[in-house]
Amino acid sequence: MFPANRFPLNPALWHDTAVEAPVTTPLKAAAETDTLIIGAGYAGLSTALHLAESGTQCMVLDAREIGFGGSGRNGGQLVPGLKKDPDELLSAYGAERGRQLVEFAGTTTSTVFSLIDRYTLNVPHTRNGWIQPAHSQSALALVQKRVADWQKRGAPVRPLSRSEVADLLGTDQYHGGWFDERGGSVQPLSYVRELARVTLAAGVAVHTGTPVQSIEKKGSGWQVTTDSGHVVQARRVVVCTNAYSDGIWKNLKETVVDPNTYQVATAPLPDDIAKTILPQGQPVSDTRNLLLYFRKDHTGRFLMGGRGPFREPRGKQDWDHLKKAITLLYPQLKDIAFEYYWCGRVSVTQDYMPHLHQPEPGLILNIGCQGRGIGLQTAMGKAIANYLQSGNEAALPVPFTPVQRLPFYGLRKLYVGALISWYRYLDSRT
Ligand SMILES: Cc1cc2nc3c(=O)[nH]c(=O)nc-3n(C[C@H](O)[C@H](O)[C@H](O)COP(=O)(O)OP(=O)(O)OC[C@H]3O[C@@H](n4cnc5c(N)ncnc54)[C@H](O)[C@@H]3O)c2cc1C
Repeated sequence: MFPANRFPLNPALWHDTAVEAPVTTPLKAAAETDTLIIGAGYAGLSTALHLAESGTQCMVLDAREIGFGGSGRNGGQLVPGLKKDPDELLSAYGAERGRQLVEFAGTTTSTVFSLIDRYTLNVPHTRNGWIQPAHSQSALALVQKRVADWQKRGAPVRPLSRSEVADLLGTDQYHGGWFDERGGSVQPLSYVRELARVTLAAGVAVHTGTPVQSIEKKGSGWQVTTDSGHVVQARRVVVCTNAYSDGIWKNLKETVVDPNTYQVATAPLPDDIAKTILPQGQPVSDTRNLLLYFRKDHTGRFLMGGRGPFREPRGKQDWDHLKKAITLLYPQLKDIAFEYYWCGRVSVTQDYMPHLHQPEPGLILNIGCQGRGIGLQTAMGKAIANYLQSGNEAALPVPFTPVQRLPFYGLRKLYVGALISWYRYLDSRT
């Protein structure tokens, strides 16, 4: 009943309300391809689709099913930008690379919307903005700086007063905030399944139920061996396994911390209550370090996501803190039924930035989403495809860096626990 990371996708909300997945089968024989992509989430499928659009032969392998990882479990919030603000990106990456990176960060959501339009993807979605409300006075100061930072680059964003936030959210618990017109939302599993459908139609071979066991250099290319012993020869390999990475490449999994994030969804809201909550339908993620993210979905349910135990869930009590947060924000939901409980892993890097590695020519590893990967990983896939076509490393959003195991990786659950306590303390201050 609880959504452990088991195959097949647990019967969570997205599973029950998504379009059908295209039919895919395990790889049953040895194969050869130009570019082999591992992981059928947004990143892997976007890489494959963009490569196929320019005539490159590709194959995608996934251990489980399309969208088994974050892409089939997330909150569906299409949030522009990265964890770092534009000025921070410029000081970390320098004027030219920083400018490119800011441009990339500002267009991650439009990359999703253009795919939806271009391929007429059957994905319930909204594109009427995203809101970040400030949970404290000091967070409000940060938000004001963030808005100014994007505004000076011409981004369609604006600050929101306390009363504007109260009107847009239907709760007076926040101190103000900002509105980013570039945001929106998607039914996340429909989006990844539809990406897979058009990727298949573009001529890409997509095999599910096919765990990759090893990647080895062979001559001028690569030899990839699956759990069932089939071998794929490829000129290039792109690994897009993100928070669901296993031991596929030495130390890759150990470059990130992969905590679980938990989500809960109510029964469809009665009309009289629905109109009092998020009346214009924007998704919301607040400024807490242990952020709360919430929205209404296309079935009229209210959804909230946030922190939870690092381990896999043991029972519905693991979501109690989210239910409590919901009724604090929206007391009118105190008697509502909760119908769906699920969770999934996000990958957090030490510098809160996405990472690209190229340990050897022809092998690219893409990892790190900090819980904001719908637009980011779709756009990253497009950028990786461009790089593979052009060879222009300078045009990648972030430079390749060495694969570096996190210090004290074995103790990550402990330090995540300590960090959570610290963040809880910071979030409690106003
Ligand atoms: C609960 C939750 C809520 C989130 N909410 C949001 C949100 O609201 N907005 C947002 O932008 N982002 C959100 N995210 C983050 C977002 O979902 C991810 O960043 C994004 O889906 C990552 O996509 P990906 O393609 O990189 O990886 P994934 O979708 O995780 O795909 C990785 C794939 O690799 C496969 N794989 C792993 N190992 C192997 C192997 N050895 N062989 C073959 N295949 C393998 C897995 O089966 C999996 O399908 C959330 C994530 C979670 C978990």
